[in-house]
Amino acid sequence: MIVSGYRVDVEEASRWIRANGIRRALLQAPPGLREPAIRLAEELSGHLECVFFDCGGCWGGCDLAVHRAKAIGADGIIHLGHAPFLEKAPIPTLYLECRRADPRPLLEMLDSLEEGIRDLGSLGLGMTVQWLDYVEAVREKLARHGLKIRVGDPSPPLRYAGQVLGCCYNPLLRLSDAVNGYLIVGSRFHGLGLALQTHKPVYSLDPELRRIYDSSSEAGRLLKSRYAYIGRFRAAGRIGVILSVKPGQYRLGLARRLVSLLRSRGKHAEVLVMDDVSLDRLRDSGFRGFVNTACPRLSIEDQMGFEDPILLPAEALVAIGEMRWEEVVRTSRYFSMEA
Ligand code: SF4
Repeated sequence: MIVSGYRVDVEEASRWIRANGIRRALLQAPPGLREPAIRLAEELSGHLECVFFDCGGCWGGCDLAVHRAKAIGADGIIHLGHAPFLEKAPIPTLYLECRRADPRPLLEMLDSLEEGIRDLGSLGLGMTVQWLDYVEAVREKLARHGLKIRVGDPSPPLRYAGQVLGCCYNPLLRLSDAVNGYLIVGSRFHGLGLALQTHKPVYSLDPELRRIYDSSSEAGRLLKSRYAYIGRFRAAGRIGVILSVKPGQYRLGLARRLVSLLRSRGKHAEVLVMDDVSLDRLRDSGFRGFVNTACPRLSIEDQMGFEDPILLPAEALVAIGEMRWEEVVRTSRYFSMEA
């Protein structure tokens, strides 16, 4: 069925329910997919004893509501809108992707690409999962405008050729020598994440808003403010290292290594355990500087309007002199969450 412009595969959901003997399911959906979630629950009512709607965070495929599902005795989770993320979910899980039913808003925009983009000659193309059905259509259309398109291969946690996540662009970054720039289809958010990790020009195309953004310029402005936060972090005495319990963001080894490094540099550092990272809770935590081992985009998107620095692990290493800013910025190390 098609709901709010998204294809929702009811058959796939009912097959999964039968195959896994699910009676009680927890249904997770991001805010933009609440209507498809409600319609799906109606369609599935004959197949299930009961469906519970999860009202916690649903930020990405990493954010699986395992703890809440277990608390209510659910047999499984139906997670809408994101591609499979975890290699092995701790509870039976169906990632139901809900791809865009109509390519026209996207394809029409390609006819009016500005000259600066067309002049690049070759582009690495990345897309959010909602638009992935149209990779070939976009490639063909851009070829008619004289652009050579390369698409990255799947590589965990990315499941599909051409897919990007706000935290992962590795296949595209590996194409760096073969392309002159990048085009990311999805949103401003998705293009910015790549632009922070490369010197090549990055443009983001948002078919919903019908806008194209120069993400590289935005990244340049943002990186200046990030460097200022690194300075504030150096001055902070007590540091909280944020550890999220979300299954796809849980990095205990990294958090502990950062605590021990920070202590060795004279900081008072502790691990702060959270589910959704709330700025109000950070403000009340008693710590005045933070390192974020959860979703890297929290440091970028949530920092504005928050007085204390919330650094990425790589930025924290720069702050304590383990790395130089030039070694990190506009490279894949910037979002690295390696322990
Ligand atoms: S870690 Fe962040 S950017 Fe990556 S999938 Fe999860 S919510 Fe999205």
